[in-house]
Amino acid sequence: MNAVIRTEHLVKRFGRVTALDRLDLEVARGETHGFLGPNGAGKSTAIRVLLGMLRSDEGRAELFGADPWKDAAELHRRLAYVPGDVALWPGLTGGETIDLLGRLRGGVDKRRRDELLERFDLDPRKKGRSYSKGNRQKVALVAAFAADVELLLLDEPTSGLDPLMGAVFNECVKEAAAAGRTVLLSSHIMSEVEALCDRVSIIRKGAIVETGTLAEMRHLSRSRVRATLKTPARGLEDHEGVHDLRVDGLDVECNVDAGALDDVLARLAAAGVAGLVCEPASLEQIFMRFYGDELAAKGVQEGNGS
Ligand code: ADP
Ligand code: MG
Repeated sequence: MNAVIRTEHLVKRFGRVTALDRLDLEVARGETHGFLGPNGAGKSTAIRVLLGMLRSDEGRAELFGADPWKDAAELHRRLAYVPGDVALWPGLTGGETIDLLGRLRGGVDKRRRDELLERFDLDPRKKGRSYSKGNRQKVALVAAFAADVELLLLDEPTSGLDPLMGAVFNECVKEAAAAGRTVLLSSHIMSEVEALCDRVSIIRKGAIVETGTLAEMRHLSRSRVRATLKTPARGLEDHEGVHDLRVDGLDVECNVDAGALDDVLARLAAAGVAGLVCEPASLEQIFMRFYGDELAAKGVQEGNGS
């Protein structure tokens, strides 16, 4: 059994709101898995069920093959959790909090902890109540990355961090992956997930609408092709796999289905190519396929999703 996280038809309702609607999520050991969806899609609810903080109404959830609700205490020694809005014990210092969380988990590597404090530029001597949101976030991140655990559950963990610290966070996730840890990283920011994750699951209204590697998802999507030709191209106008074609003299721009790419490139080559740019679909474009209508209806700016 190689899945660290597995949910099957997981359902969670809050009154009339169905937050999880038969969610099937699977994360393999050692993988960094992106959990992507806009606000309200059900990411935090799924993670809270996996943490045993919420009880599901239907379906199954497993962590390391165990039941997150019944076996919470044992499971929590094997994982670290960072939410998007960290609450700390007001009277404990950051350092005390990190060490306490460490003892609840498998223990803290003290050298690693000190190194992380430095990298995140965090003063561990302040009391919990006096930290800013960003610094509370850092306390939780240092505690999580210093813990000797198999699984990191990170629920929009960078929401309070500035870009510089976002880069430190990215390095830490990569180091965790290199150390063999399994990471579930929820986000509504595609670029973050795109840079870090082996596989991605896209959640919409409490259900997974797409899951796979970025390469697999790109395969479903269109590449953007721009070419400067030597002679006019032929056979692109009515090509099934060519979309949004724009021809300006010898400059050609279009979006091309993955399956039509070699044929389209052959046609361009036949016309003679003076310049060529071909960009794979970004995760953002893939995401917009599932969410475009919904986000537009909410008046959300394309490209962010928040
Ligand atoms: P995400 O983390 O993807 O932004 P959430 O899991 O927080 O989404 O929320 C999913 C849905 O469940 C939303 O409609 C949200 O309003 C609702 N919800 C979440 N937690 C509660 C709660 N404790 N009580 C009532 N509704 C909730
Ligand atoms: Mg959330």
